[in-house]
Amino acid sequence: MLIKNKFNQKNTVVSFEIFPPKKDSPIHTIYKTIEELADLSPDFISVTYGAGGASHNHTIKIASLVQNKYNIDALAHLTCLTATKDEIKATVDELKDQNVHNILALRGDFPENKDVDFPNPLHFTYASDLLKHIKENNPDFCMGAACYPEGHLECKSYQQDLLNLQTKVKSGSDFLISQMFFDNQYFYNFLTNLHCLSLDIPVMAGIMPVVNKKQIEKIVSLCGASIPVKFRKILDRYGDQPEALQAAGISYATDQIIDLLSSGVRGIHLYTMNRPEIAKEIMRNIAPILKSIEAR
Ligand SMILES: Cc1cc2nc3c(=O)[nH]c(=O)nc-3n(C[C@H](O)[C@H](O)[C@H](O)COP(=O)(O)OP(=O)(O)OC[C@H]3O[C@@H](n4cnc5c(N)ncnc54)[C@H](O)[C@@H]3O)c2cc1C
Repeated sequence: MLIKNKFNQKNTVVSFEIFPPKKDSPIHTIYKTIEELADLSPDFISVTYGAGGASHNHTIKIASLVQNKYNIDALAHLTCLTATKDEIKATVDELKDQNVHNILALRGDFPENKDVDFPNPLHFTYASDLLKHIKENNPDFCMGAACYPEGHLECKSYQQDLLNLQTKVKSGSDFLISQMFFDNQYFYNFLTNLHCLSLDIPVMAGIMPVVNKKQIEKIVSLCGASIPVKFRKILDRYGDQPEALQAAGISYATDQIIDLLSSGVRGIHLYTMNRPEIAKEIMRNIAPILKSIEAR
């Protein structure tokens, strides 16, 4: 099913994000993860796409597996920064052949150790260009895009980032998934700003349960998410005690999600980091709340 239709059918859409195994690991190392996540019956599972193209084939194969073997709708991420327009067209055709009709259109991040020509006439420049192209040539696809409640790191001003997002939505985005945030107020302010721009589009809140201090500090330095005092205390106090950090991280994410659900958000997108046991615990915590919301 196209993901955009799920927003009409359900009060809250819940999804999980997974990433393909590293370049040298065999693809089967992710099968158990998918199986366990599929058991939790998410509305869809999204599969990330390596900016350098390393996991390009894995993304397609895994999205196809999610869609066709596990019968869970798959959302394939697709980045355009390092792929030519011809390569993008071939990937979209391949996804179509595999019965995957949901794409998250992204520009991608600049690789750390490689110079990239930007802009490059052989490539789509921004996610909005990629979206427009796919939507015009494949009107039957459902297209998602990324959004940044605290603003995208590269953008000179928050206001300009919002205007760029407006272009992205008008280029054919059917829904948005947010960058992770640890203070819900940023997300609520962001929704108000979208409303002021008359951008009436479902926005899924991206939630990252934190279970590894080093990993989260690296991710935060790359994406610029703010760390509230309450969250910093957890990292400082339990950062070197994995079991305690995991318990506190799951509890923090659960609290965030309950507040978001109580405020009527359209969707929750869980960055699972390929750890189904964590998704399982969070889903158990929020199951009665989701049930009550859907019963309305
Ligand atoms: C939910 C989610 C999933 C992600 N999945 C992946 C993944 O699978 N693989 C991966 O490599 N990365 C992924 N990323 C990271 C993403 O690729 C980076 O954040 C990247 O830096 C921006 O991608 P974008 O699609 O948001 O870019 P864009 O929307 O193109 O925006 C990039 C920057 O350009 C600015 N901009 C946009 N349009 C214009 C314009 N016309 N003129 C001037 N400036 C403009 C924006 O304000 C922003 O600062 C993901 C991010 C999110 C939030």
